[in-house]
Amino acid sequence: MKVNRDRLAQHFETISQYGKFGETGVCRPTLTPVEKEAFLVVSEWMREAGMSVRIDNFGNLIGRLEGKRKDAPILMMGSHLDSQPYGGRFDGTAGVLCGIEAVCALTEAGLTPDVSIDVVAFCDEESWRFNKGVFGSRGIIGQVELEELSITDKDGISRREALIAFGCNPDELQQSVYPPNSIGAFLELHIEQGPILDSKNLSIGSVTGISGPVWLSVTVKGFAGHAGSVPMNMRKDALIGAADMIRAINQMVRRDEVPTVATIGSLKVFPNSPNIIPEAVEFTIDLRDIDENRRTRYEQQIRAEIAHISDQHGLTFEIKENFQFSPTQCAPWIRNIIREESEAIVKECPELISGPFHDAIILAQVCDIGMIFVRCKDGISHNPAEYASYDDLAQGTELLMKTAVRVATKLGEREQGL
Ligand SMILES: [Zn+2]
Repeated sequence: MKVNRDRLAQHFETISQYGKFGETGVCRPTLTPVEKEAFLVVSEWMREAGMSVRIDNFGNLIGRLEGKRKDAPILMMGSHLDSQPYGGRFDGTAGVLCGIEAVCALTEAGLTPDVSIDVVAFCDEESWRFNKGVFGSRGIIGQVELEELSITDKDGISRREALIAFGCNPDELQQSVYPPNSIGAFLELHIEQGPILDSKNLSIGSVTGISGPVWLSVTVKGFAGHAGSVPMNMRKDALIGAADMIRAINQMVRRDEVPTVATIGSLKVFPNSPNIIPEAVEFTIDLRDIDENRRTRYEQQIRAEIAHISDQHGLTFEIKENFQFSPTQCAPWIRNIIREESEAIVKECPELISGPFHDAIILAQVCDIGMIFVRCKDGISHNPAEYASYDDLAQGTELLMKTAVRVATKLGEREQGL
């Protein structure tokens, strides 16, 4: 069983051409022609690795390597090929390409895993196009609601329309849901997207758990007026109110020196004109924590603070929850396998928490999960400067492959009742 580092590197070089901008940037939005082209290229690699390939109705690309026990719960691996609008070459892509390389190394060695292995490029992990992501992973476990199909992107294209243009049938989503208990475990390799491995000069790490996010949309309403004529003390300026809220949220989480993080990353101003007092402002809050109780406390404080500031400025407000996931632990038995297998590959493979969420957080609702992190330079991600070396990615792939074999064996034993 040997990972082919050069083939893996070649696959990264090829796929980073799809959606490329500048020297190293990638913009590959979900459910677009450029993502479809990338899917077709990756499909070929899946076939070369011995997998059968399909695109399901959620827009997931799925390769399957048949195992010895075809009816046993499968091992799933994967991540996503869609990127942020100003993204890099490795986020998500690593989990897909390293997953395929791991399978390829198995089949080249003439090995058949005990249970089948699916490698998946999940649809719309990134969330930004339709403001509600991890779509494909939620889809296969039956957590997509039909109303979501009518959410539109900034050009007014609905998810339904985008799925149809991609070749999917959004009226037959149920066909693409995996039956209960058919997924035995899920493994995801991902770049760390944080600075810890790089700062310790270590190539790979094992994830203990994933922070749970809650995403809120806040709409603040005031009253529009002429910027020249309404005296300052008579204004109901929604943007001033929102600005106070944004600052208050940041300070509230910051002053406690906790691992909790809160980000306001998107702001819409209406009517967005230089000489009109802003009437309405919509902004998003992304709040995350590995401790759900603490996150809930902060969410309550944030809601109270928004109400208080709204009152001070004579504004009204509305808060909508876009989605939330509980923090998730990686399965101790898979962490053990990762630790044991890492010993033959690297001197040290530290355990880390994942601040970013991944498709794994969704799969954790139906099966045990494990995650492997690969060092990325300076922790930079969601940025064209994102960088992981092919040597590190090859080490991560070797660990993924060895872990996959043992997890598949374990799933096979479970099926036999051993
Ligand atoms: Zn990702």
